[in-house]
Order: sequence, then C-alpha cells, then structure tokens
Amino acid sequence: KLVSKKWKAKPTSVDLGDNIFIKEGEMAVITGPCSIESEEQIRAVVAHCVENDIKMMRGGVFKPRSSPYAFRGLGLEGLKLWHKIASEAGIKIVTEVMQTSQIEEMYPYVDVYQVGARNSQNFNLLDELGKVDKAVMIKRGISGTIEELLQSAEYVFSGGNEKLILCERGIRTYERASRNTLDLNAIPILKAKSHLPVIVDPSHGIGIRAYVPQMALAGVMSGADGIIYESHEVPEKAYSDGQQTLDFAQSARLASWIRESFAMR
Ligand code: PEP
Ligand code: MN
Repeated sequence: KLVSKKWKAKPTSVDLGDNIFIKEGEMAVITGPCSIESEEQIRAVVAHCVENDIKMMRGGVFKPRSSPYAFRGLGLEGLKLWHKIASEAGIKIVTEVMQTSQIEEMYPYVDVYQVGARNSQNFNLLDELGKVDKAVMIKRGISGTIEELLQSAEYVFSGGNEKLILCERGIRTYERASRNTLDLNAIPILKAKSHLPVIVDPSHGIGIRAYVPQMALAGVMSGADGIIYESHEVPEKAYSDGQQTLDFAQSARLASWIRESFAMR
C-alpha cells in the first residue's frame, strides 16, 4: 500500500501554509465547536484560539446528525463567514465534507477537509478528494477496523492527494457507559504501519466532557501527532455535542497540558 511505511519510510508532513504543519515531531492542536452556529460564536472561538496560540479551528457547517430534526449546520454561507473571520486571524479551518458535490464549493474556504466517521468508507467521496490539492483528514469509521481506515486513506493517496491525516475518534463496542470506545491501541499501530500523521479525537472518543482532558493526554502519550477536541464559550448551549465540549477555561488548560506532555514524551 502507498500509505504504508514499507512503501515510504519518511513520515508525511502535511503543509497547511503560513508555516503551519500537521506532522510527526510537532503537536497539532485543533479545537472548536461541534457546529458552527453564529458570527458571534465564531468570533469567540477565534479569539480563544488566538489567545492560546491554537492555529487550527474545527467546526461543522454540514452536520451528519442521527436525527433529521436536529440542527444540521449553517452550510456554505456559514463556512464563508467563518473563513473571513478565521483567515484574518491566521487560523486554519478543519471542517467536514459530506458529499462530492460540496468539495468544489467548499474549496476556497477550507484548509483541511474532514471525512467524518459516517463517511469513512464513502469511496466516491474518497476518490474525489484524491484529486484535490488540499489536506484531507479521514476519521475512523464507527465500526471501522484499523485496516479499513488505512484502505480508505489508500483511496485518497492513490488518487494523487498525499496531504492526508488519519484520525482515531473511537469505535462502537458493546460498552454503553461512554459514547464510543476510544481505541488508544490504534495510535501506535497506525504510526507503525503508516507514514501518515495520526490525530486523536477524545471528545467523540469518550463523549463525556469531564474525561476529555485525560483521554487527550493519553492520546498524546500514545504517540499521536495532534489532538482535535470540541470547545465552546458556553458548552451547555451548544447546538450539538455540548455534553462532550470543553469551555474556554478547560480548553486553555488542556492546550497547555498537551504541549507540556508532548515536550516530555
Ligand atoms: C465531528 O467531528 O463533529 C463529527 C461529526 O465527528 P465524527 O464523524 O467522528 O462522528
Ligand atoms: Mn461533534
């Protein structure tokens, strides 16, 4: 496989421009709300990122929701507004693309296309993202194996797009005490098998706000090249995933813990 270490020994460095990279040897910190909600909310999160030297912001404008009646995102207009505010602050945008028709319209406004867990094996979407010259982060499927995640990455890489990032976000197991089961095992295994950077998502991985920081630190110590977690000015008022979202004080503390842990690794 092209994404395997056997094919390419040197770790892949994903260059987002402006001296911002997702790569082995650095710790990428990505935070932001589950959903982009309003201009006010975007400004608050951007300010939080700037204050804490966080260079990449996450957020969904096209949201995959389990219920069709739940908030499904602000769409392209929300992305344009977000891009205007974030780019002025020098912050890169990580956001989910749900279908092939969105790739082109999103293109001017996104820095990393996120392929969500539910689309992890949407092979048409992966094929099309293989033709794009922007970074792609593929999340592990809800019941996806490590091998299946690598095969999904192979679709994009073999299509010609080598700006690829893998993300462990927890899998569905028999355990119901947590939203998902964050598979920390996947991190060293993915790092050993592939030259691609590996990011860990403790927010979706455990789904419980109070335990997000320790799972984030466990991810760092497991060898992750970056962390993506949810934050919001008032998590209780978030339109989605508030129960697993940190407030800004918690996020600021976690960002500094992540960097300290990484320095000690
Ligand atoms: C998200 O990042 O908000 C999200 C929907 O994640 P996942 O695809 O991992 O469920
Ligand atoms: Mn979410």
